Amino acid sequence: MDLSSRTKLCGVIGDPIEHSLSPKMFNAAFRANDLDFTYVAMNVKKNGLAKAIEGMKALNIHGLNVTIPHKVKVVGYLDRVDPDAKMIGAVNTILNANGKLEGFNTDGTGAVRAIEESGTTLEGRNVVLIGSGGAARAIAFTFSNRVGKLTILNRHVHKSEKLATELTKKTGRKVYFEGLRKEALERAISEADMLVNATSVGMSPNCDASILDGSLLRRDLVVFDIVYNPPETKLLKEATSIGAKAVNGIGMLVHQGGEAFRIWTSKEAPVRLMREVVTEELSRLSGKT
Ligand code: NAP
Repeated sequence: MDLSSRTKLCGVIGDPIEHSLSPKMFNAAFRANDLDFTYVAMNVKKNGLAKAIEGMKALNIHGLNVTIPHKVKVVGYLDRVDPDAKMIGAVNTILNANGKLEGFNTDGTGAVRAIEESGTTLEGRNVVLIGSGGAARAIAFTFSNRVGKLTILNRHVHKSEKLATELTKKTGRKVYFEGLRKEALERAISEADMLVNATSVGMSPNCDASILDGSLLRRDLVVFDIVYNPPETKLLKEATSIGAKAVNGIGMLVHQGGEAFRIWTSKEAPVRLMREVVTEELSRLSGKT
């Protein structure tokens, strides 16, 4: 569809943003649905957030995704924040509803759908979640009312302590926390049936890194790595090599995007197409095609 004065503008703001896959993913989805929408990536520095959000209103931008480093701070600039996003304390999707900016967080829903479509249920599972950044927060809050025991480990233990304490205060659920030490990992994993890596460790170009020693993995563990570039991280390769179930970050990426698509367009997202576009772009980036 040709761009015109009626085209609705969406985009993503963050820094860095140059390698974002979202423009390709969303533009393909808009085209497939014959929607007069377009999507661009915009580099917004840390100190430029307030002006960017004012600009969203002034320029009548219809929708924005928000990524590192703005997800938490942006909450304070919006007219309304959805209860789940408020609880998580971070927003990754904004809808401009007739000049009123509404914030949502679709990361947690994306993670749940990724797990479910892999044929795994969350109910009652003992989960070890590594990380306490933006994505880990969304996953921790969204998983907390479905899973059994939830243990959060983080390199800087004060952050996993803060997240666990906040979760317990807001949801009433007991959540355990530790620092990311080998003995703590060993203990937590020995009691767990699902492991989630929500850190950036293993992400391209540091593909030879893994958040833990592969000898800690077990065959009966579900291993979910939210890193999507590369799609098969070292952690997932090691999980697969011992016969454990490995779930990569592409499903979460596509489903969090699909939920944003629904918020902006009130239509179901063409998730299968979005996945194809992302997978193709990731193989192009890795030089495989
Ligand atoms: P973030 O807020 O910056 O958090 C980064 C997390 O990684 C923190 O817990 C940090 O620990 C940990 N970390 C970083 N380097 C580490 C290291 N060398 N050793 C141990 N821990 C380390 O980032 P985020 O937004 O949560 O994103 C995290 C990752 O998830 C990124 O790779 C991102 O691309 C991916 N992600 C994927 C999706 C998806 O849809 N699949 C969605 C969002 C994010 P400290 O607190 O100790 O620094």
